[in-house]
Amino acid sequence: MPDLPKLLMDSLQGAAGFDAAAFEAVHASGAQVTSVRLNPAKWPGDGETHEWSSDVGMEKIPWSTWGYYLSKRPSFTFDPLFHAGAYYVQEASSMFLEQVLRQSADLSRPLRVLDLCAAPGGKSTLIRSLLPEDSLLVSNEVIRSRAGILQENMIKWGAAGVVVTNNDPRDLGRLENYFDVIVVDAPCSGSGLFRREPEAIDEWSLDNVQLCHQRQQRILADIWPALRSDGLLIYSTCSYSKEEDEEILDWMMEELQATSCRLQVGADWNIVETQGDKGGYGYRFYPDKVKGEGFFIAAVRKNEGNTFSYPRSKKQGFEKLPRKEADALGPWITERSPLLLFRHEEMVRALPASMAEDLNYLQSYCYLKKAGVLLGQPSVKDFIPDHELALSDLIHEQLPAIELSREEAINYLRKEELQAASGRLQAVREERRGWSLVRYQGQNLGWVKVLPNRVNNYYPKEWRILKRP
Ligand code: SAM
Repeated sequence: MPDLPKLLMDSLQGAAGFDAAAFEAVHASGAQVTSVRLNPAKWPGDGETHEWSSDVGMEKIPWSTWGYYLSKRPSFTFDPLFHAGAYYVQEASSMFLEQVLRQSADLSRPLRVLDLCAAPGGKSTLIRSLLPEDSLLVSNEVIRSRAGILQENMIKWGAAGVVVTNNDPRDLGRLENYFDVIVVDAPCSGSGLFRREPEAIDEWSLDNVQLCHQRQQRILADIWPALRSDGLLIYSTCSYSKEEDEEILDWMMEELQATSCRLQVGADWNIVETQGDKGGYGYRFYPDKVKGEGFFIAAVRKNEGNTFSYPRSKKQGFEKLPRKEADALGPWITERSPLLLFRHEEMVRALPASMAEDLNYLQSYCYLKKAGVLLGQPSVKDFIPDHELALSDLIHEQLPAIELSREEAINYLRKEELQAASGRLQAVREERRGWSLVRYQGQNLGWVKVLPNRVNNYYPKEWRILKRP
């Protein structure tokens, strides 16, 4: 590992909780921490049922309900449950967002939440697991090339009440007073990830810290109008620099007249509570103190602004599916709560029915990359189900499904032909024809079509595993 930048070390002297010797030692040690967060919608219970748990110890992350440290890094690419969205590989410190939401937001009623800087989706998947039914999550990523991986991860996570957008914060700022909670996991100078990405050390500079500071202010100023009065804004970075952390918090309190929220932190979590010059509370994570990477998080409440009401819309911006066509989808989807089924470019999508007005409103201001779940394409003879439906929580429990062995599941995820010779699949072919889910350990991986002489693999080509073990 290259030496830590001297200018960074000098600038951190006096930062709350900073211990230069311990900080240098943990970076020099080469120690790495691996952690995952289970998807409670797919994987009820704890991680002890996973095949890793016998291989590598799983140790609970104290501030997280679904987060675990793994004592070894398994090959996630070759774990079918990773592709099924049964868990997300996430850095442990950033899972503290759960505490901020539980302690500062009212999670007893439906909320409208924006994750503004969302790719690749770590915070969004966590937020979605915490939100009550009928809450809407808007996951936004401004950089087009990164919005694709965000979309993929949100599809795998499987929740229906998600809209993925690809907009500049300024565009979303026009949704005045709309959101109850906004999460800004800001682009930053990245010093908190030096242990994991030592190559970033040489790219670090004080000039870049300054640039990031200005960009962070601009992002916050642009998005602030979209937060309702008394709404919550959660700000985080993976930088240790005060310019990007406490100074931004001070700026929000001064310029935006925001009120800081103080959090309860477990005494043995070793998270450092800091206060900026304006008295706002921030929470610092140092890798020599916590088992996780460098991280900063703070929450503020908005004092001005208004409550939101939907503008009177002249017309409905989406084509609702006619009743007869909607009824025909009955065998494919489960309707725990009412759904809005609508058509977009020949494809049928579903959102919780309570979000019809949101869909109308959002699409008049933003570019929607994904709204709800893509169910599939109706055709004259058949319905062609989409991969999104297979991974979503809307999938009907009674659909035909074939449980695969680990080896078969990997072949499926490589989009290879499923062993035509396999006796088991032969039996399946004789028993039933047509669309079937394939599963691994009870988790849906995608679709196959069972034909008289073969089984066609419908795994999305762009997602297939290319790596060899
Ligand atoms: N929240 C993500 C997660 O947990 O997986 C990580 C987000 S990363 C720290 C910051 C994100 O901000 C990046 O995806 C980056 O593309 C995006 N970004 C970069 N410049 C931005 C800008 N000017 N406005 C908003 N987002 C920006």
